Amino acid sequence: MITLSQILAWITQLDTVYTENKAYLTELDSAIGDADHGINMARGFSAARKAMEETPPADIGAALKAVSMTLIKTVGGASGPLYGTVFLKASVTCMGQESIDEEGLERLLSEGFRGVQQRGKAQVGDKTMIDAWDPAVTALKEARASGGDVAAMLQAATAAAEAGRDATVPLVARKGRASYLGERSKGHQDPGATSTALLFAAARDTLS
Ligand code: ADP
Ligand code: MG
Ligand code: MG
Repeated sequence: MITLSQILAWITQLDTVYTENKAYLTELDSAIGDADHGINMARGFSAARKAMEETPPADIGAALKAVSMTLIKTVGGASGPLYGTVFLKASVTCMGQESIDEEGLERLLSEGFRGVQQRGKAQVGDKTMIDAWDPAVTALKEARASGGDVAAMLQAATAAAEAGRDATVPLVARKGRASYLGERSKGHQDPGATSTALLFAAARDTLS
C-alpha cells in the first residue's frame, strides 16, 4: 500500500535529487542540447515541493495534479510539458484516493507513460526519455504479473530505466533539440532519459 504521505515524500525526494543532479543533467544537455535540463528539473520540482507545503493536498490525485500544474507553469522547454503530462495523466487515475495498491501504482505510472508518449510522439530508439520510460513500465508490469509487491515493482522498473538510459549513448537523436545534431548526437547520454531514471529511483526509495 502506498499512502499520500509517501507520495509527498516522493515529490520532496525529487526536489532533492534534481537539485543534487542539477549540474550533471545540465552538463549532459550541454553536449547535445541547450544546457538547461538540470536547471529546468530543479526549478520545477523545487516549485512543486513548495506548492505541496503551502497547500497540502487532500489526496494522491490532487497532489499529482498540483505537481503537473506547477511543472507546466514553471518549466519551459520540452521537459516541462512532457513531465507535466506524466503527472496530469497519473493524477486522473487516483483522484480522491488517500492510498493506492500495486494495481493502482501500475495504472498511475502506465497512464503517465502513455501521456508522455502521446504528447511527444517519440518512439523507443529516438534517444529521448521514452527510452527509459518504456522499459521501466514494461518491467513494472512484469514484476506485478509475477506476484511482486510495490518494492519489487519499483526495483525492476528502476533497473530497467537505468539500462534504457545507458542504451541512449550510441543512439542518434530523432526528437527534440538533440535531433538537430544528427550523427553528432551519437556517444552522448540523453538528459531526459537520465532524469526519468532518477524519477524511478526516487519512487523506489520513497514508495517501497
Ligand atoms: P529543451 O530541450 O526544450 O531545452 P530540456 O532540456 O528540459 O528541454 O529536456 C530535454 C529532454 O527532453 C531530452 O533529453 C529528451 O529526453 C526529452 N525530449 C525532447 N523531445 C521529446 C519528445 N518529443 N518526446 C519525449 N522526450 C523528449
Ligand atoms: Mg535543454
Ligand atoms: Mg531549453
